[in-house]
Amino acid sequence: MTERTTIQMPGFRGVVITPEHHEYDGARAVWNGTVDRRPRVIARCRGTADVAAAVRFARARDLEIAVRGGGHNVAGTAVCDDGIVIDLSAMRAVSVDPVERTALVQGGALWGDVDHETQAHGLATTGGIVGHTGVGGLSLGGGIGWLMRKHGLTVDNLVEAEVVTAEGEIVRASTDDHPDLFWALRGGGGNFGVVSTFRFALHPVGPTVMAGPVFWAAEDTTDVLRFYRGFVTDAPDELGNVIRLGTIPPLPMVNEDLHFRPSIAVASCYAGPVDDGERAVRGLRQFGTPLVDLVGPTRYGDHQSGLDDTVPHGWHYYWKATNLAGLSDEVIDIVAEHAYDATSPRSYAAMFHMGGAVARVPREATAYPGRDVEHNIVIDAAWLPEQDDTVGAADTAWARTFLDALQSHRAGVYVNFLDSDDDTSRVREAYGDDTYRRLAEVKAKYDPDNVFHNNKNIQPGTLAQ
Ligand SMILES: Cc1cc2nc3c(=O)[nH]c(=O)nc-3n(C[C@H](O)[C@H](O)[C@H](O)COP(=O)(O)OP(=O)(O)OC[C@H]3O[C@@H](n4cnc5c(N)ncnc54)[C@H](O)[C@@H]3O)c2cc1C
Repeated sequence: MTERTTIQMPGFRGVVITPEHHEYDGARAVWNGTVDRRPRVIARCRGTADVAAAVRFARARDLEIAVRGGGHNVAGTAVCDDGIVIDLSAMRAVSVDPVERTALVQGGALWGDVDHETQAHGLATTGGIVGHTGVGGLSLGGGIGWLMRKHGLTVDNLVEAEVVTAEGEIVRASTDDHPDLFWALRGGGGNFGVVSTFRFALHPVGPTVMAGPVFWAAEDTTDVLRFYRGFVTDAPDELGNVIRLGTIPPLPMVNEDLHFRPSIAVASCYAGPVDDGERAVRGLRQFGTPLVDLVGPTRYGDHQSGLDDTVPHGWHYYWKATNLAGLSDEVIDIVAEHAYDATSPRSYAAMFHMGGAVARVPREATAYPGRDVEHNIVIDAAWLPEQDDTVGAADTAWARTFLDALQSHRAGVYVNFLDSDDDTSRVREAYGDDTYRRLAEVKAKYDPDNVFHNNKNIQPGTLAQ
């Protein structure tokens, strides 16, 4: 049954969802279950023309606009109160050109969609490490993942984008077409328009790769991190590593007696031949006394979705994040001291090893400025909606205290890991003054009225300002 709606949107052929529609509550829910916003209308687009029609409709009525890709942003910027959500969740098509080695990806696709289609050709591009994360928001903020040290950030693989501007016009952005817009899209987030289609460069990956996590007891954290510091310094670009500090998730491949045991894990993925990968991770696997070692030849697509169930839609989340210039003894001690103080067994911290191809792109080439960062830590408080409020309050405080302890070691922050409220003022920190100023100029050209402001907002500006 589809309810009739009184809203007529000229030129729009998608689904218009208003509060009385039976899908309204599902359509306004995002990944972070703490977000509870009530838009006046959700315009579920079928294609680029619908996106343009929705933007024009909103502009004509001066409606607040939010843009929804995968709905994963922890701050819930994909939805707004009392305005319109331009919802791309029905635009998830991915089309691969195996000869050119590119993929055309619609703006509402998830990384699981991209991996599924590209891996059918033995190809991949750098995407997020959780399959249900949206391509839209992740790509526009930079895009870090297992393949970045070998193949660059997601934005380094962006070849062109189709964009609906604040005027409702459809333009192309690439190095030849609207190059200023193309620069800004590669890190500047959803500030410049709605990207209806991305075209990404692809690379041969897998389908079988050497990948998986090794877990050690939490008491071994300092030793593991000191070893890891040297291990990653010598690591080849093919090797992507992410540390996870928290408890062992109750995954089916882990013995039940280890579920929720405090632990440090290093998860790896080698983007090259399996034998080379085996050699690259051997030292790590032989270090100390692991509780469990799940590294082995794995299908890349399975590795990409391996964490999906550990961070499902609808739980309550609160994040704090920072880049780290390096892993000094002091940083290691702070991490070891705070990592296991969370109340919820679902809370954790994740630390991405950067460098490699990411660091070889000149800082000014894109709007992603954190090229020289070595590690990027995100502290994720996660608890169940039915849990007592005190758990959320305790772990929100845990995340803040953990970040505060790292204060003197901070080296900027990845914009896509910023939360709402107390992180709003950190947008400038994320970009640094030079990049922010340049983004503000592009914003003034493409969205002078700041129509797209439900995001990590760049204020329109001029050079003089
Ligand atoms: C579980 C989890 C794992 C993650 N892992 C990674 C990771 O491995 N690597 C990484 O880099 N990041 C990761 N992130 C962070 C992720 O990059 C951000 O949450 C990002 O905002 C998600 O994009 P989305 O489209 O799903 O979000 P949404 O909430 O839908 O969108 C966020 C914002 O992006 C903009 N936007 C989205 N789509 C479009 C579009 N098509 N056109 C214009 N603007 C758009 C809008 O401004 C919107 O407000 C992860 C997040 C989560 C929750």
